[in-house]
Amino acid sequence: MTAVFPLHRTTRPTPAPDRDAILADPGFGTHFTDHMASATWTPDAGWHGHRIGPVTPYTLHPGAAVLHYAQEVFEGLKAYRHADGSVWLFRPEINAARFARSARRLSLPEVSEAEFLASVEELVRADEAWVPAFGGEQSLYLRPFMFASETFLGVRPAHRVEYSVIACPAGMYFSSGSGVTLWISTTFTRAAAGGTGEAKCGGNYAASLAAQTEAHEHGCDQVLYVDGVEHEWLEESGTMNVCLVTSDGELVTPPLGTILEGVTRDSVLALAGEHGLTAVQRPVSVTELRERCADGSVTEVFAAGTAAVITPIVGFKGADLDVRVGGGAPGKTTLALREHILDLQYGRVADTRGWLR
Ligand code: PMP
Repeated sequence: MTAVFPLHRTTRPTPAPDRDAILADPGFGTHFTDHMASATWTPDAGWHGHRIGPVTPYTLHPGAAVLHYAQEVFEGLKAYRHADGSVWLFRPEINAARFARSARRLSLPEVSEAEFLASVEELVRADEAWVPAFGGEQSLYLRPFMFASETFLGVRPAHRVEYSVIACPAGMYFSSGSGVTLWISTTFTRAAAGGTGEAKCGGNYAASLAAQTEAHEHGCDQVLYVDGVEHEWLEESGTMNVCLVTSDGELVTPPLGTILEGVTRDSVLALAGEHGLTAVQRPVSVTELRERCADGSVTEVFAAGTAAVITPIVGFKGADLDVRVGGGAPGKTTLALREHILDLQYGRVADTRGWLR
């Protein structure tokens, strides 16, 4: 069978000693592998020019639509090396479906699930040497994305679109193993009903930067967004969904609608039962969070996302708010769920759900 994304191998790969030096301390998002997947869409030809080739800069006219109107969507997922040396993706079908939903919301053409999976898998195959060794909880981060490359300043869906996947080795960023404090902003709102909160589009992240600065100014690590009408209902953090653990055995997370449907969120909800918890998706108010953290009936809060897996949240601050969660240290359930997901991703326990590909 011919590959959907045929490989045109680079003639100038990163020398192995240089690659090994990067893999020894990959950080996040600064070192890229040798290859990228790409394809182009036009209304007449549809998707064409699929290939895996050397990482190459784009040449864009200054009038390219994406530079003005941010018609762009992206995804984020990881490849994990197991003890036997094999390399696996974690639930990439969910990323494929979310990418298609994001594309529809931004009036971009859809990449089929088969093309999405082929682009990711064939890139990982080409750059397999860049997948960090088993044992360090490192991974190869994959970034599929799509943008309007047509040179046109009219506001309408572009007639030329580029799709690509790039990859970078990623260290285990458990940025704060001891837990983070979130800033509940009433100045900035991330999303509203009918907006783009459910889509993974670049504009959402550009708009989040001012809120992130506000959080830092108040001594907090990240933002916890609330709804834009009452400033009362929890939504999500900047790149993670948020979950509460209660003393009566519930794992509670805000419902979908204006938040990103996280792969990690979905995985945590699915695993809750094995940790003696009932998964509940329902609105959670700031008042409930404050009162139940104070009376101890919310015992743990954590954030869930691909990059950091699960991050304990040990406190919240806001204009008139200073809440401590549990004893101010990461909770047992939070750490157990984190281990459970990592065990699945790194093949340290059996994949009974068929989540690995
Ligand atoms: N919310 C937002 C806004 C995000 O950017 C992310 C990261 N993709 C998440 C939640 C978590 O999603 P996932 O578990 O799929 O990484």
